[in-house]
Formats: sequence, structure tokens, C-alpha cells
Amino acid sequence: MTDPSGFDVLAVAPHPDDLEILCGGTLALLVKKGYRVGMIDLTTGEPTPRGTVERRAAEAEAARQALGVPFRLNLNLPNRELMDTPANRYALATVFRRYRPEIVIAAAGRTPAASPDHYQGQLLIEAARFYSQLTKWDDRFEGLPPHRVPQLVYAPFPFDAEQRHWPGTFIVDISDTFETKVQAVRCYSSQFDEERFARLHHFLAGHNAAIGGRCGFRYGELFHLPVPVGSADLVTTVRGGKGSPAPVQLPGKDHLPHG
Ligand SMILES: [Zn+2]
Repeated sequence: MTDPSGFDVLAVAPHPDDLEILCGGTLALLVKKGYRVGMIDLTTGEPTPRGTVERRAAEAEAARQALGVPFRLNLNLPNRELMDTPANRYALATVFRRYRPEIVIAAAGRTPAASPDHYQGQLLIEAARFYSQLTKWDDRFEGLPPHRVPQLVYAPFPFDAEQRHWPGTFIVDISDTFETKVQAVRCYSSQFDEERFARLHHFLAGHNAAIGGRCGFRYGELFHLPVPVGSADLVTTVRGGKGSPAPVQLPGKDHLPHG
């Protein structure tokens, strides 16, 4: 991308492979639809028991190409010690000021049995979004002018320990890009050897099928909003942009309590 500013969507997560797992199908779909999409990794993801910085970078680049996303940046903040600190907020807010996204997708959720980076990353992204718009502070952001990020969307970790009640929630139909997502995840061979990849593939197929099935999609990815979903037209909102009156009914749905 020759002029990587004015993104429609900038997706941010702590580790290379987080975004692929959480919302790779959606990112690939956005690219197919012609939106300007970028990916930001907060850390290299190293050290881990299985990788090296160089290998993880090559894997992230291969995954970027698999998804078709034209832009990916690594902030090189410390893995395993990622914290929501003022200095890290400045670093990410500088990225927001430079690339001026309309929508930021934030990997989100507490993962107490996995990396603490995930929750710190969420806090950091939220704070950096706020810092990005502040006036009289340009010296903290390489002299770049303020940029207000209009929309924040959460991509929740599927193993979040908390069943949170988010104000808004929606599911993106990734039936057409689920296989692309799987190919992108497969690029991380340092983290997922054949056996681990088979397990992850099994999990993602079930998880994304279960999520998507709630809206009648073959595969879906779940997102949350910090605010309720706004609507200018009840009919369009309820149709979910599909142009059909209602989601496809699932077999057996009549038997559900609220079916
Ligand atoms: Zn991670």
C-alpha cells in the first residue's frame, strides 16, 4: 500500500496469530469487499517455547498474504510483559494518529489460563484510542495531529473466562472466507505443528460454525460493541444487510424454548 493512511479498519492484537484466530475471516472478507484494512501486532509474540522472532515475523507476513491484507505493522512492545502503560499508550496512539482509522478492532477479553498480554492489550488499545484524540499533547505522538477513532469494535477471545454482557453484539458471516482464515492460521507452524494445528482447526470449525449458526450462517465470527447497535432503519438492521426477511431457520429450532 503506497499511502497507508485513512484506513477503514485497523485491527490490533497482542500477538501475531491472535487476529487470524479471532477475526481472520472477517479481515479477509473486508479486503474482498474493497475496504482499506490494516493489522497491528503489539508484540513479536516471542519468546515462546517454539519460535524465534525471525520465524514469527515470516509467519505473520505469510498469514498477511493469505488474508490479502495489504498492511501489517509490529510495534515490538515486550511479549509476556505487555502492559497498559503511558509509554505504550503513546506508541499505539501514534499509530492511530499516523494511519487515521475509522474503525479499530481490538482483541479483547481476560484469559487467566493463557497470556495476560491479551487483557492488557485490550486496556492499552482502549486507552490509545482515547489518547489519539487529545489536543495539546502532540509532542507525545511524534508531532502528529489528533485523530479521533470514531468506532471501536471488540473481537473477543473465545476462551475468555468472563461471560460479559456487552451493550452490543453482532456476528459476521465468514462462510466464504473461513478456509482463507484456516490457511492464514496454518502459516504459524512454529506455534502449531501438525497435531496442534489439527486440534486448533477442529476447535475453530466448531466454534465458528456454532457462532455463525446462531444467525443461519455456515461460519461466523463474533464481535462486540461498547455501545448498543444504532439503527436508522429497523428493517435493514434486523435483516443484517442480507436483504432477506429473517435468518435461515436451523433444524430443530422449533424445539428451543424461544424458537
Ligand atoms: Zn495471543
